[in-house]
Amino acid sequence: MNSSTVLCSIKHWCFQAMVVAVLVLLSRSEWVLGGLYTGEQSLGGICLAVIVLFFAVTFGLVLLAIALPPRLTKAMLRVLTISVAIYIFEPAIRALFFVPAKLETFQKIILIACTLMLAWMGSTLLSSSQWKRMQAALLFGGFVFVSFPILAVRATDSIQVRMPAGAQAQGATVVLLLDELNANASEQIAADIKQAGGVPRVHRIKTVGTATISVIPEMFGGPHMPRARVCAPTAVCDLSAIFDFSRLRFAPLDRVHIIGFHHPYCAAQGLASCAMFAPPNPPPITSLLCSFDRLRVGRRGSQCDWLPPEGWDVFRWRMRDATLQSPFWKSGGTLYAHLPFPHPPGNLPRADLTADYADNLRLASEIVAQVWRQGNERFGASFRLIVTSDHPLRPELWCRHGKYLETGCGVKPTGSEGLVPYILVGGNEAADSVPTDNGKIFTGKL
Ligand SMILES: [Zn+2]
Repeated sequence: MNSSTVLCSIKHWCFQAMVVAVLVLLSRSEWVLGGLYTGEQSLGGICLAVIVLFFAVTFGLVLLAIALPPRLTKAMLRVLTISVAIYIFEPAIRALFFVPAKLETFQKIILIACTLMLAWMGSTLLSSSQWKRMQAALLFGGFVFVSFPILAVRATDSIQVRMPAGAQAQGATVVLLLDELNANASEQIAADIKQAGGVPRVHRIKTVGTATISVIPEMFGGPHMPRARVCAPTAVCDLSAIFDFSRLRFAPLDRVHIIGFHHPYCAAQGLASCAMFAPPNPPPITSLLCSFDRLRVGRRGSQCDWLPPEGWDVFRWRMRDATLQSPFWKSGGTLYAHLPFPHPPGNLPRADLTADYADNLRLASEIVAQVWRQGNERFGASFRLIVTSDHPLRPELWCRHGKYLETGCGVKPTGSEGLVPYILVGGNEAADSVPTDNGKIFTGKL
């Protein structure tokens, strides 16, 4: 082989490798959009990680292509191109009604094996010109799949948000959304409210989903999306519906203030004030690499473990302080605070999930009592407090967290799964109505 032939084949492999690298990046769209949606990654960090991954994949594959015999290189690049392209569509495949919501490791291995087999068949049967067309089609399909929801959200209608029934123009209401609050935690919270001089009216309501991502959109008037996932910087989708936070319209007269995390609440229109907080996260390149780690989640001491307890504690106290210092306390209106209490992890050294959750619950209950005292002092009889949650504790998720793999889980069923508290304190009891589930809190439909 002379030098120009070598150069030519390197150029050829380089192009093939770049196609694979672009497809790999398209398969990471959920990581990119999720980082922007939750505010957990900066735009600069995302760009850096994406560029590093692109060049790493391209160079890695070119080096491999030079090292392997040409026939094997061709097969390898073709199989990779097709497998990665199928991987881009994974969220849509997983949202199909016959695919179980949670895949076991052996099911994932079967899926990967089938993908590779399909890719192998596709790669051996295609001629060179057919392969070029196939590559173009895969790239085009990937781009359309990723960008369609981002464009589609532009066409969605705006949603007028209603305050929970009983909110008066002159009064002040705080809605505390305590993340992962079990229904049977009501007694403890009610006891602390009583001690702070309040008279709580305790109810239990159904939750419309099992995770924040599917419940909060419905709470603000969105459709029921049990398999919602992030599909645009301010929106979630499932196969049949889209919910975009930037389409939410709050009435300025309601003077709504928001303190929140995980969702882009501040993209909504008509808010009197809004503050978003991001929990601690691995640096962007580590975080992007961890997004490939689904098969390996659950290993002890993994770099990819989410919410490291140290940073988590700083984050949640910052959110508590922001709630107690919100401009709401001057202006009145409504304060909606989505707080990471009693959301795990906890900060007791060497505690298992049960002990940490009990401690977090104590902290959550103290915050509720503090908010009640502060509201009562500031607004008197016109103050109303609502305490509820998006969903109960999720042991199936938290038992796989690094800390609890070490210390143990120990969570027993509470007998009230699928229910969350709805506690009302103060306000006009006759004007208050209790929603049947937490998907209807801000819709006015009871
Ligand atoms: Zn949640």
